Amino acid sequence: MAVLKLRYLGDPVLRAKAKPVARVTKRIAKLLKDMEETMYAADGVGLAAPQVGVSQRLIVVDVGDGPIHLVNPVLEEGEGAEVDREGCLSIPGVFGYVERYARVVVSGLDGNGKPIRVEGSGLLARALQHEIDHLDGVLFIDKATGLVQAGEEPGEEPQPGGEAPSGRDAGQPGAGGP
Ligand SMILES: [Zn+2]
Repeated sequence: MAVLKLRYLGDPVLRAKAKPVARVTKRIAKLLKDMEETMYAADGVGLAAPQVGVSQRLIVVDVGDGPIHLVNPVLEEGEGAEVDREGCLSIPGVFGYVERYARVVVSGLDGNGKPIRVEGSGLLARALQHEIDHLDGVLFIDKATGLVQAGEEPGEEPQPGGEAPSGRDAGQPGAGGP
């Protein structure tokens, strides 16, 4: 496995619509493992292939329950709505609040080319939606409110390299302190 070079905001690959994967080859399986290692090395909870410069429909997610590899992921169902804080490994130090489905069902293929369905709520649902957005060239800053640079929020610690939500804090943007 190898840690791949991350692409950052301004790189056109992040704005391209990624192509479907025709077949889950050994090369694709290796890329998924490398993406997983890259995600862990950056302390992220998810990573999409465009973030390592590959414009193909591949994502990896791990919110603490083990890695999930998805090829050609499709959002099949979404219900409820939740607003929470998000960041992105490709936009370091920037955070904002994004409304997402509270629960989703995503279908796709796993790293062996077998069809899988992933059902998730909370952080998993958020991470899946964030990563699938990447495949369509959509970044969380397109949807976020209350965008801030880390360190600008009173009472907040900077969060280096966090992909997707911080998992703590429940403040609303602009709500102000006590
Ligand atoms: Zn991201």
